Amino acid sequence: MIEVKDLVKVYGKTVALSGISFSAGEGEIVGLLGPNGAGKSTAMNIITGYLSSDSGTVTVDGHEITDEPEKVKTLIGYLPEIPPLYTDMTVREYMDFVYDLKKCSLPRKPHLSEIASVTKTFEVQDRLIANLSKGYRQRVGIAGALVGDPKILIFDEPTVGLDPGQIIETRALIRRLGRRHTVILSTHILSEVQAVCDRIVIIDRGRIIADEKTDDVSTTVNRNRRYSAKICGPTGEVLATLRSIPGVSGAEVTGERDLDAYVYLIESEKGRDVRKDVFAACASKSYPLIGMEPSGMSLEEVFIKLTGNGKKR
Ligand code: ADP
Repeated sequence: MIEVKDLVKVYGKTVALSGISFSAGEGEIVGLLGPNGAGKSTAMNIITGYLSSDSGTVTVDGHEITDEPEKVKTLIGYLPEIPPLYTDMTVREYMDFVYDLKKCSLPRKPHLSEIASVTKTFEVQDRLIANLSKGYRQRVGIAGALVGDPKILIFDEPTVGLDPGQIIETRALIRRLGRRHTVILSTHILSEVQAVCDRIVIIDRGRIIADEKTDDVSTTVNRNRRYSAKICGPTGEVLATLRSIPGVSGAEVTGERDLDAYVYLIESEKGRDVRKDVFAACASKSYPLIGMEPSGMSLEEVFIKLTGNGKKR
């Protein structure tokens, strides 16, 4: 449905995008996740035709954006981070205005009425946008993006600034829209992609560092195995022993205790199961090992690991 290939964008000395490629299939909700400054807005502005890239291509439903910019714009509904709402209009006036602006050819009344029903904005049709809550304004912004029934919807940070109730509602709305549209949304919030997206594209410093199904990210990215072990003995010496075991790529003490044992996180090199070696090394030093189990990595840890402690540039 949408294919982004080798996009490069440089602002002066800042490389905002250094050759990103990803795609989104029909009916898929893809989350572009990355810390602030990663390049998400730049990518979205290029995909929606508001900014030109230095090189690379964006193809939507078989149409290349630089060859057919007007055609591609009709296929995409875009909700920027700050929706361009005219606050002195009522919702109805605004929707009529967007309908005319987009030169929409679908029958006006039923089309706008269906959008009002999907976005639950019926009850505020005659209210001034200036007087709406942030949650309702966001819904009106989404309603505007839906005019013309575009195949692809692009939402830039759609829940920023909303309260928890409004966030839940907006996410539910996006999921509903995902049944009929391909959705790409950008966010710096991990729980958002987990709650809403089928796939995550993680972007950092203008590069894509992971592109996985949401459920697979933590397992695929975390190729090294980790174990949590409870070991009695002086922590410094236990750590030195653990770190000397061939195949152990890292060991640290978590600070947790279980009676007189400390809890250690032990990371093994790719594909190696070091549990027997850990047991033997502890036994040879007479450090009682009273428990050991695999320890998963949360998506949050994966993200921090991939993006270098979440440091901003
Ligand atoms: P994100 O949306 O992930 O926060 P952006 O796409 O806004 O990231 O920015 C990516 C990088 O490009 C940042 O370093 C930002 O400072 C820089 N940048 C964005 N827009 C401009 C601009 N108009 N001029 C110069 N640098 C910019």
